[in-house]
Amino acid sequence: MLVLQEIAACREAARAAQQRGRVVGLVPTMGALHEGHLSLIRAARERCDFVAVTIFVNPTQFTPGRDFASYPRTLDADLEACSSLGVNLVFTPTVETMHAGGSKTTIHVSDLTAGLCGQHRPGHFDGVATVVAKLLNILPADEAFFGEKDYQQLVMIRRMVLDFNLPVEIVGCPTVREADGLALSSRNARLSADQRTQATSLSRALFTAADGIAAGGADIAAVRSAIRGDIHEAGPADIEYVEIVDAETLERLTVVDRAARICLAVRIGSCRLIDNVGVDAPRGGG
Ligand code: AMP
Repeated sequence: MLVLQEIAACREAARAAQQRGRVVGLVPTMGALHEGHLSLIRAARERCDFVAVTIFVNPTQFTPGRDFASYPRTLDADLEACSSLGVNLVFTPTVETMHAGGSKTTIHVSDLTAGLCGQHRPGHFDGVATVVAKLLNILPADEAFFGEKDYQQLVMIRRMVLDFNLPVEIVGCPTVREADGLALSSRNARLSADQRTQATSLSRALFTAADGIAAGGADIAAVRSAIRGDIHEAGPADIEYVEIVDAETLERLTVVDRAARICLAVRIGSCRLIDNVGVDAPRGGG
């Protein structure tokens, strides 16, 4: 397994693989790898001949003063996990390498980033879109893998790739959850034991709501307030948003008459958690 820090060497290795006829898969991460990340790597391993993982905690996607400095960094364990899954290349650039001279160019994907997390994390999605575009330039991949856990991010990246005619297929992978439903996240480690128990209310509320909508007749406002009620009942939480949106455009729905996504962000203590589930239009209309 190649572990590279320099852009030129990384590009060279990916190009060489492509020239040998290999299908190159890219899995961008911020490290602190858990089963969610590993599921992306496994999907890449299944579909591609040459798998590249990037580990880069990107400062431009963090809100200034928020958890960039304290974000977990576990490089040795990450490299071991990558190696055991048969990853071919890990790119671990420094901030100076990725943002040499301080970038003056930013990618902004309009509309799709206005609501949901975009409303609460100004600049976050511009930081993500820009760094993913840079990574795709450095590592010319045929396929790139992203988790549905960060649903708005996945939709935004698909759109950026479409708008920029980037020659890469974006593969979305299902959210990996703990046995009790909590979506895996590097930030879960910050939850106390009580908060960890409380956090299961998020996925429980989402799945109950999705079942209610699928069964038909559910009023969206009532569904949203039921989700809020379920979460508050579990303990003190600061709910940033609970929204039911069109699965492709992320526009708020008043009636579920097409494929939709129920998305939420909740702070429990100092830990910000996001989750979402898909829901189809109920049979026989909204
Ligand atoms: P991150 O390191 O948090 O930037 O995440 C890197 C990639 O892993 C993103 O595409 C995430 O959506 C994905 N990911 C994170 N957590 C999960 C999870 N629980 N299930 C599936 N994918 C995940």
